[in-house]
Amino acid sequence: MTSERKRILTGVRPTGALHLGHYVGALENWIRLQEEYECYFLIADYQVSDHADQIRDLHRQVHEVALDWLAVGLDPERSHYVIESMVPEHAELTTWLSWFVGLGRLQRNPTLKSEMADLEAAGSDAIPVAFFTYPIMQVANILLPKAHLVPTGEDQAPHIEMTREVARRFNRLFEREVFPIPDGLVGRVPRLVGLDGNAKMSKSIGNTIDLKDDAETVTQKVRGMFTDPTRLRATDPGHVEGNPVFMYHDAFNPNVDEVNDLKERYLVGKVGDVEVKTKLAAALNAFLDPIRERRAHFESHPALVREALAAGTDQARAVGRETMAEVRSAMQVDYL
Ligand code: ATP
Ligand code: MG
Repeated sequence: MTSERKRILTGVRPTGALHLGHYVGALENWIRLQEEYECYFLIADYQVSDHADQIRDLHRQVHEVALDWLAVGLDPERSHYVIESMVPEHAELTTWLSWFVGLGRLQRNPTLKSEMADLEAAGSDAIPVAFFTYPIMQVANILLPKAHLVPTGEDQAPHIEMTREVARRFNRLFEREVFPIPDGLVGRVPRLVGLDGNAKMSKSIGNTIDLKDDAETVTQKVRGMFTDPTRLRATDPGHVEGNPVFMYHDAFNPNVDEVNDLKERYLVGKVGDVEVKTKLAAALNAFLDPIRERRAHFESHPALVREALAAGTDQARAVGRETMAEVRSAMQVDYL
């Protein structure tokens, strides 16, 4: 059952609950585009090698991602929920494509470079070989269903650039247009800052507001957020630019008049952090309420979550087998 719609491939690592950064960086585009594209949403369990000690937790984490997706409204009737390691063609294509990525090219990938530096700084005594090569697997993930579009946050752009290079190189080498050259698409907020003011809200850093957090947790987290470090008293003029609290207001508070009023008063020292944060927590909780409701529904229907994963993974295997047959034929390694 191959649809005529153009295809999307994108995904997340099953390393923890999805958060506000995922929403504005990626999920929002996925939700919108699932009407127009045939979407393959991937749970990239092969790419969690930097958490090898927590491998027993993957089972639960994979189901948690699927729950978060159902909660935000990614419709498994239209789109395919795919478990990466249950489609062996991902590993097969990764092996072939790793012939066409130079060592130096991989070492220069800026996202990989900074992630490896973080791992080393955190004291991991070794970076798994599988971590170093994960961008090649990401290339294979995108090319296996012949995706045209890859909507992600900004940090994934170097991997998409590599994918374009590999696809072009493969097509040229084997004189066949096997792979479309995919485009990237970065979300409304390319990289949402963390609660701690870190440049990226990230599961691994633990500076997140999760889509499944309850109202009280959200309120507490907002209360503890970084604001303007130069401002000591509510009567001091403050900075709006680069202030995480206002970045979140801009991203999630639909009441533009309220946000503008808070900004004007903040700049001249006429509003305290408490009011700015109370209004932010209210806006976030209003935004998260329908997501929480849908999540509760699917939590009490685990069979629906399992079915979504099973059906999507089957579909990805079918498409993966087709592509691998073409790849083998193009490379003339279809020996028998
Ligand atoms: P980890 O820290 O385990 O890598 P993560 O929070 O970076 O987790 P991923 O699963 O790696 O999450 O990323 C899933 C998708 O969400 C990617 O498209 C990524 O670009 C996007 N994304 C993640 N964090 C943010 C953020 N803070 N702002 C915008 N987009 C984000
Ligand atoms: Mg990441």
